[in-house]
Amino acid sequence: MEVIKKQTGAAFSLKKGQKLRVVDPQGEQVSDMVLFNSEDTREKISSGKTLDFEESILITKGDFLWSNRSRKMMEILEDTNGRNDFLLAPCSPETFQIMYKNPEYHPSCFENLYTNLEKFDIQPDDVPTAFNIFMNVQFAADGKLSVDPPLSKAGDYVLFQAQMDLIVALTACSAEDSNNGSFKPIHYEILE
Ligand SMILES: [Zn+2]
Repeated sequence: MEVIKKQTGAAFSLKKGQKLRVVDPQGEQVSDMVLFNSEDTREKISSGKTLDFEESILITKGDFLWSNRSRKMMEILEDTNGRNDFLLAPCSPETFQIMYKNPEYHPSCFENLYTNLEKFDIQPDDVPTAFNIFMNVQFAADGKLSVDPPLSKAGDYVLFQAQMDLIVALTACSAEDSNNGSFKPIHYEILE
């Protein structure tokens, strides 16, 4: 089991057929995940294509994560919590300036994604909307969004299976509102 310390991230390769288990070890902690085709990193995870093809804005067990080239990147085999978000972009330095009115430096998923992806020659502008594991975004009939505390309990996990050779980046999210005001680690493991 690998540990992503609070407010950090990781990036690694995942071969077609391998499984990835992402665990919330303490509960109420979001993990942002982005995916790239390891053969051609211009192909990457697409929120728009996934919501379109799965015909839902709530993506969970039985669904696939699709690429910008309309190909399956991952299947979700298990999801013990069942609530994830695929609407919102990763929290970034500007998130804290604009939404939190905080002019100071603040760690962010965006920074933790692109700094870990540098070794794969992926640039900040290449980072797409992330699949936000355990993130609890609620929406009203009029379209109003709210970011509520995660529903995940200690030990909840999502199990993914790669549908192509992938580069995966994961974070332990750094945004107060997404994690009920505290920052915790994320665990993950690769299974054959
Ligand atoms: Zn975040």
